[in-house]
Amino acid sequence: SNSADRLGNNESVQVIVRCRPLSLKEIEQQHISVVRIYSNRGVIEVENPKAKSDNERSKIFTYDSVYDEKSTQQALYDETIRPLVSSVLEGYNGCVFAYGQTGTGKTYTMEGGEDDDIGVIPRAFDQIWAHISRKTGVEFLVSVRYMEIYMEEIRDLLKVKSTKSHELREMPGEGVVVTNLHSQNCQSARDMLKAMRTGNINRTTGATNMNEHSSRSHAIFQIVIEMVEGQSKSMKVGKLNLVDLAGSERQSKTGATGERLKEATKINKALSSLGNVIYALAENSAHIPYRDSKLTRLLQDSLGGNSKTIMIANVGPASLNYDETIITLRYAYRAK
Ligand code: ADP
Ligand code: MG
Repeated sequence: SNSADRLGNNESVQVIVRCRPLSLKEIEQQHISVVRIYSNRGVIEVENPKAKSDNERSKIFTYDSVYDEKSTQQALYDETIRPLVSSVLEGYNGCVFAYGQTGTGKTYTMEGGEDDDIGVIPRAFDQIWAHISRKTGVEFLVSVRYMEIYMEEIRDLLKVKSTKSHELREMPGEGVVVTNLHSQNCQSARDMLKAMRTGNINRTTGATNMNEHSSRSHAIFQIVIEMVEGQSKSMKVGKLNLVDLAGSERQSKTGATGERLKEATKINKALSSLGNVIYALAENSAHIPYRDSKLTRLLQDSLGGNSKTIMIANVGPASLNYDETIITLRYAYRAK
């Protein structure tokens, strides 16, 4: 698989891969890394720990960029996400997805830790407000929404106590909107951080197992930027969707039954429908199958057209995750 036979030529869809370091637990259990990354060529090579013959010894994939375990949050942001947020600040829509098996670094990539370790979402806040403070002659109206999709149901993470239901409605001139969803006006990066934190707390309220819950739902942080030009009073709107997807592990394999199996089936269906949409966009296909899941319907106005999309596929380096890693890389490869 070299870049020449890579699928698709649509510049507005980018697929990147990020591999996290071995965890302490993996090091303690003497797992070794089976992943080799050639960043400058966008290549990742995965050694098959169970290879029986030479020609199945390793698999090689190529993407728009590949980030190894030493890659910093800042490098990933500056090289790949910053240009997308810049185009949102010019009035276009954009989506960033973190995809991958639970434990591979989706939340680390999107939210991150403290200080230098902050992830894509808080870095976007900083970029947006740095832009606003520099720009003269434009009035900005910034608001955020934070929701999750769990079992194909939408939940408002900024107003969990609300008993109103959230449906997807097609509105003339507005596209698809979520009914009864709280929209929080923001005046600063700090306001946005506060909304993100409130939503994160709400996300886990009522969940018996926080990790389990977050690995089974898609969290969508949405930033809407309205810009009014001083002279002409012409208005532009840019929408940025930052999505921490449900874990991609094949839960049917874990022997789940009953409710769990139903849940797993829905997650897998939503993720594959997202993959199909991105694949169709990358291929400039005439039919984009938005209607197959709530996630893709909800994001319809930010996927395709003039919008930009970045899919970040997260993988772990350990041999024990070999099968899931290959599945993730294939999904991401097909998405491009
Ligand atoms: P996910 O959201 O995909 O389930 P997390 O983001 O929670 O995974 O990551 C799992 C663990 O690995 C966390 O402790 C996280 O801090 C750590 N981690 C993930 N990616 C990296 C990375 N690139 N560098 C350092 N630590 C990472
Ligand atoms: Mg997570």
